[in-house]
Amino acid sequence: MKIAVAGGGVSGSFFASLVENTQDVTVFERQRENVFRAICAWGTSKHEMRRLAVRIGLNFDEYILHEGREMVVKLPDNEFSIKLKGLCTFDKKRFILDMHKRLKIKYSFDVKKEMLNGFDIVVDATGFHRALLPRIARDYYIPTVEYLVEYSSPPFDDFYLMPLTHLGGYLWYFPLSKNRAHVGVGDYFCRHREALDEFVRKYSGEIIDVVGRPVRIAPPHLCTPIAIDGVVGLGESIGAVHPVIGEGIIPGMQCAEILAESLEAGLDQYPSKVLRHFSVFYYIFQFIKKVHNSTFSYLRDFRLLLSPFIYMKFREDRFGMEIRLRDWLKIVTAYRRGRASTKI
Ligand SMILES: Cc1cc2nc3c(=O)[nH]c(=O)nc-3n(C[C@H](O)[C@H](O)[C@H](O)COP(=O)(O)OP(=O)(O)OC[C@H]3O[C@@H](n4cnc5c(N)ncnc54)[C@H](O)[C@@H]3O)c2cc1C
Repeated sequence: MKIAVAGGGVSGSFFASLVENTQDVTVFERQRENVFRAICAWGTSKHEMRRLAVRIGLNFDEYILHEGREMVVKLPDNEFSIKLKGLCTFDKKRFILDMHKRLKIKYSFDVKKEMLNGFDIVVDATGFHRALLPRIARDYYIPTVEYLVEYSSPPFDDFYLMPLTHLGGYLWYFPLSKNRAHVGVGDYFCRHREALDEFVRKYSGEIIDVVGRPVRIAPPHLCTPIAIDGVVGLGESIGAVHPVIGEGIIPGMQCAEILAESLEAGLDQYPSKVLRHFSVFYYIFQFIKKVHNSTFSYLRDFRLLLSPFIYMKFREDRFGMEIRLRDWLKIVTAYRRGRASTKI
């Protein structure tokens, strides 16, 4: 089959790498090769990434920049630590570019649907842009801003996280290598710049790069159509992102696996397989939306409250951390009612 993949991010590149031996696949990427950026904090879990990378002949361990031991979670009145079991940062840009090296790829190509006539399948892997599929009727996303900071003396030596009020998002400090870190904030209530600036005033370092884009947290159930008129969505374009933690690398790559399998089994099954695989994201999304809207009730929504916890508890290696109910409840109770400000 002749397949066009619009978007050479992690999902599109991984999908193309999975099928390049059996299909005639071309990737079209909007960015230029020499200034390609992988906008992200580069945090992931090494266990699942090892499994995924090995499928395309890459050794994930060669890309790891920092292996976490514990993550400090800062609450308004106290802080606690989460034991890490595989959470790491990795060189996502090099990982993607190494996939590109083996693919047929056209850079500086801003895809519009009519440009891709003549392909049997067109994959929309353009992430938040969703450039080829119809607009989402009820989209939901978190604005973010992120700095790449170099410190002479880093303020933290491991992962650090500070949730924001109403669980609108959180501030992250993800260590890289050579005293560098990705420091960023995502916040549904748009306090992200204010919170990040306060952090960098308190913990100053040299800002090397500034990026920002929204992260879609509307789950696949709301990102319909998932496939229409020969175009199929993949990764963040169809909401393959964990709605509470904003993690999209592994879900995007898992989505690529489902699409690759569906080429063999029948493409018409792809949307239902995606919905089944990410069904828990629907409940996690309902939970976070209620907290954002201040309509969450412990009694009525207890099952929703537990959904992120249970999903992650049974997948500690997959998420790279120890998941404890008391930690989750501490975060929710401290932030649900907006007791705290965005003060760092
Ligand atoms: C600031 C920030 C921090 C994040 N941190 C993490 C993290 O630490 N861990 C994690 O797991 N997730 C994180 N995420 C989420 C994660 O980065 C994304 O969900 C994931 O990268 C989605 O992959 P994707 O390939 O589907 O889309 P993208 O990574 O967005 O890739 C889409 C690609 O398509 C290209 N493109 C767009 N439009 C067109 C077009 N018209 N024609 C051709 N090409 C086009 C883009 O240039 C891009 O290369 C973060 C997101 C943000 C914004």
